[in-house]
Amino acid sequence: MLNIKKIRQDFPILSRTVNGKPLVYFDNAATSQTPQVVIDAIVDYYSRYNANIHRGVHTLSQEATDAYENARNTLKTHFNAKHSHEIIFTSGTTHGINLVANGFSSLLKAEDEIIVSALEHHSNIVPWQMLCERTGAVLKVIPMTQAGELDMQAYSALLNNKTKLVFVNHVSNALGTVNPIEDIIKQAHQVGAAVLIDGAQATPHIKPNLQALNVDFYVVSAHKLCGPTGVGILYGKEEWLNKLPPYQGGGEMIAEVTFKKTTYAGLPHKFEAGTPNICGGIAFATAIDYMNSIGFDTISAYENELLAYGTAELLKIDGLKIYGASDCKTAVISFNIDGIHPYDIGSILDKLGVAVRTGHHCAQPIMDFYKIPGTVRASFSFYNTKEEIDVLVAAVKKAKLMLG
Ligand SMILES: *Cc1c(COP(=O)(O)O)cnc(C)c1O
Repeated sequence: MLNIKKIRQDFPILSRTVNGKPLVYFDNAATSQTPQVVIDAIVDYYSRYNANIHRGVHTLSQEATDAYENARNTLKTHFNAKHSHEIIFTSGTTHGINLVANGFSSLLKAEDEIIVSALEHHSNIVPWQMLCERTGAVLKVIPMTQAGELDMQAYSALLNNKTKLVFVNHVSNALGTVNPIEDIIKQAHQVGAAVLIDGAQATPHIKPNLQALNVDFYVVSAHKLCGPTGVGILYGKEEWLNKLPPYQGGGEMIAEVTFKKTTYAGLPHKFEAGTPNICGGIAFATAIDYMNSIGFDTISAYENELLAYGTAELLKIDGLKIYGASDCKTAVISFNIDGIHPYDIGSILDKLGVAVRTGHHCAQPIMDFYKIPGTVRASFSFYNTKEEIDVLVAAVKKAKLMLG
């Protein structure tokens, strides 16, 4: 069981007010809040051992290097990678996807096929369209169903020996659908295609076992799971990371530089040009430790309770429609009320202290599919409560009265 009172005390922001009302933070799918231990890790770094890493002989630099490499190890263990050099620090999911998409420029030729899904965040669409423009490769799309799930028969039919790469999110940020990535990965491998999974929305709720999944690339943003913004990881199988050329050139990523020729450093440094977000990487590992101290099974069981309760309560409101009806969902409720623009609902909720997201959630193709401009999205975390959901439901009713 989760001690919700104690957990809420770990998050200083949860005790603030917004517009004179207690904050109800339901925008967790956009970014999560930060527990005190993570804030402390950031303060501790800048107060005690701020230094550049991997090059200094002095004590501070060695301490910072050790902490940063320990953080990499924590992440390797959490995600069950085989080697810690398969964990590349990035600035987040978007950076990780661009790194891989850029690398594949040299591996694809015209007419090769790459497969995306209809359920993606723009950051898992646009870099691949740019890759197609550079290489002449063709982008295919796995269609979605009314329930907000992937059409897996259509997926099987898209795969063939021209397919080189498949990239799908583990969980849709707009609808919360958990995609059947085990099956997606298996089928892609049968035709010799590599798979990248966008784990940005799954990792706050699920602890993926990367070796068991046998996935080739997996990308994560720290700020969605209690860490700071501007840091994340790209996991890549060693053999794939060795095949890809470096993304950016600069310091840290080289073995030797002359004006004739530069040779690159080995993994993971080949992909980590320049001074990284050292403090961010360390704080990311602190966030992972914090979440593991609660336990991902406990977290997801509790969040499922919130999802079931919130869904039932919201559906009691006349004219309210929820998008995404999969049985396999994380705690995201995307909804609209007949005849009312989502933005107007969101603005009234804010006046009442309730933070939700409105709009297309960086997933415009999903909105186009449902022929709507956007939705109101309430996304829950393990520090939210049923009482907060009651506040949301009352606020939505009030918004409906005012706008309807
Ligand atoms: C948030 C999110 C991203 C983008 O993450 P950044 O941290 O902005 O790079 C990509 N995909 C999904 C599914 C997301 O939820």
